[in-house]
This record gives sequence, structure tokens and C-alpha cells, in this order.
Amino acid sequence: MTQRLDETALARLHRATIDVLQEWVVRLREQAGGKFPEKVTAFRPEMAVHGRYGQPCPRCCAKIQRIRYAANETNYCPVCQTGGRLLADRALSRLLREDWPRTLEELEALKQR
Ligand SMILES: [Zn+2]
Repeated sequence: MTQRLDETALARLHRATIDVLQEWVVRLREQAGGKFPEKVTAFRPEMAVHGRYGQPCPRCCAKIQRIRYAANETNYCPVCQTGGRLLADRALSRLLREDWPRTLEELEALKQR
């Protein structure tokens, strides 16, 4: 939704993207130790949400959520990244329709039933 960001927010996102990529380049080069990287994986324990569905966010401890696609899923923290809003998971949204929880609190309340 970058088209909805103002100039200040866009500049901040751009800076953060560069910083995170540079941080990971340094980290992965250190881990490879000057050799060709043998263990190539997109799932790394240092990542805050990627591959961590259901686990606590390292920043706020909220449960990491997911959006599932055909063969993939996107993980996110509903507190740090979406301001408490749950993003629609297409498969679950179809199943639940109007019962689809909009917030983490609603989701947790549904699980209590
Ligand atoms: Zn969080």
C-alpha cells in the first residue's frame, strides 16, 4: 500500500529497506565466512515474523499471524505491522464470511469458544 504513504513515510520506508538489506548482507557474509553459502534458506531465527506463524512476536509478544495463498503464506505481527488489524486470509475469509475476526482480540475470543 505504498501509494497511500506520504513523502515522509516513503522516505522512512526507503531508508529502512536499505538499512535492513545492508544489515542482512553483512550478517549472511559473516555466516558464510568468505565461502560459498551452503545452507541456503529463507527461514532464519533472526527474522521477526517470517516462518514464525503462531509464535510470539519478539517485539510485542503477540502471536504471529498468516495469510495463506495457493502454495505460500505471508506472516505478520498484527500489533507491530497492522495496528491490531487482522488481514484477510482468503481461504479462511470464505469459510467464515462475516464471522471473520477483524482484530487479534476477536480471533482469540473465537478460539475460546
Ligand atoms: Zn509485534
